[in-house]
Amino acid sequence: MEYEVVIGMETHVELDTNSKMFCACSARFFGAEPNVNVCPVCLGMPGALPVINKRAVEFAIMVGLALNCKIARHTFWERKSYWYPDLPKGYQISQYQYPLAYDGWIEVDVRDLSTGNWTEESTRKRIRIRRAHLEEDTGKLTHVGDKSYVDYNRSGVPLLEIVTEPDIRSADEAYAYLSALQQIVRYLGVSTGDMEKGAMRCEPNMSLRPRGSTDFGVKVEIKNLNSLRAVRDAIAYEIRRQMALLERGEAVRQVTLGWDEARGVTVVQREKESAHDYRYFPEPDLPPLEVEEAWLDALRQRAPELALARQDRYRRDFGLSAYDATQLTSDRAVAEWFEQVVTCAADSAPADIVRARAKAAANWIQTEVFRLMKARSTPLADIATVKVQPGQLFQLISLVESQTINTNTARQIFEEMFDTGADPRAIVESRGLAQVSDEGALRAVVAQVIDAHPDQVRQFLGGQEKVFGFLVGQAMKATKGKGNAQLINRLLREALEGRRA
Ligand SMILES: [Zn+2]
Repeated sequence: MEYEVVIGMETHVELDTNSKMFCACSARFFGAEPNVNVCPVCLGMPGALPVINKRAVEFAIMVGLALNCKIARHTFWERKSYWYPDLPKGYQISQYQYPLAYDGWIEVDVRDLSTGNWTEESTRKRIRIRRAHLEEDTGKLTHVGDKSYVDYNRSGVPLLEIVTEPDIRSADEAYAYLSALQQIVRYLGVSTGDMEKGAMRCEPNMSLRPRGSTDFGVKVEIKNLNSLRAVRDAIAYEIRRQMALLERGEAVRQVTLGWDEARGVTVVQREKESAHDYRYFPEPDLPPLEVEEAWLDALRQRAPELALARQDRYRRDFGLSAYDATQLTSDRAVAEWFEQVVTCAADSAPADIVRARAKAAANWIQTEVFRLMKARSTPLADIATVKVQPGQLFQLISLVESQTINTNTARQIFEEMFDTGADPRAIVESRGLAQVSDEGALRAVVAQVIDAHPDQVRQFLGGQEKVFGFLVGQAMKATKGKGNAQLINRLLREALEGRRA
């Protein structure tokens, strides 16, 4: 029988605000001493009163808008009863009946990444977003031997829970969804999205059913997934495991699973539990949340163009490949830097020239810019801090375009630009790097090379075409790498053919 997997994704995103969701404590807890970012509110002291963090609400709305959600104009907070030592109040302030954002969707490009190789082909898939609501994070428990330690630095950090409809149909789709979501929160600057540090945590729930069936199979949940890759691998593993069970006529048990990364298998964490009774009720210490139209409008204005839209535009307007467009938009700062180069390049130039320059800029960024940034340990997000300005890269591209310098020389110049921030023209002049395109001078060089290598000339004339490359190399060497390679090629061929006569 053929089976189909049905996956829904629940993701928690820690919002990167300065302070916590309902108090003024710092929300930046990474690397801090335990229990330093705490106060009576986030420690759940009796009588302490919470205050809503406006920035966190703003961040949540921005994500909601990016996910094409409707934004609730009037919501309220609810208490979710939760008796566990990592949340000292005994309840979590959350949103239940009326999430801040709901009924949205996200489009993602799904690629088959099972071979580990890039594929230009992709399928565009729409995944519906059921809801996104705000709540507060819990503290962190650490168990060592027979002792347990609790750190409340994280308790009360703003958390956005995003829930999809069960629209995901493969491990690759789950991967595509999650990486798109991660990219969105990073583009918006509302979260680091770092799964390794727990700033983004996801719990897929999944079930298998015979293809064509509309009923749902037995659902399992997978937890402890701390990378995009882990999500894809765990889902792929579970599909195989459950399919084997069903093939043998055995039942899938409803369990909560963990992912054992080292062994590459899922392990049962908990058997089926009876449904929790969270006894939600309206939070009496907080006013309802009203979102005014003017506020919403201001946030709509601030929405940046997201990665997928940029990729489509780069492919359409500049003729870039899917690979190039994806690389350039992987980080918003890189995409903006690239677009600044193109803006300089587009100045009163015809469309085909702009496309050629955009392609050149894309190549430069993905090779030399990324290479040097990596060598200097500069993260891609900090591209705006490199000494080379986008306009200077364009100058360099036009020096190659006008054949003032060749590509080899341009690479050397770029390294100097990267280290010093100097203009490429100034470097060309001060180091005498201008390309030699003087036909008379190059003709003389070619004649010298032919005289100095009679054996190779004979071999070439005898039909050994590959010797031609050697002779070009000799001519380039004679010009100290500054010779116009195209011109040398032509002159050398003319001279050699002349010898045949
Ligand atoms: Zn606090």
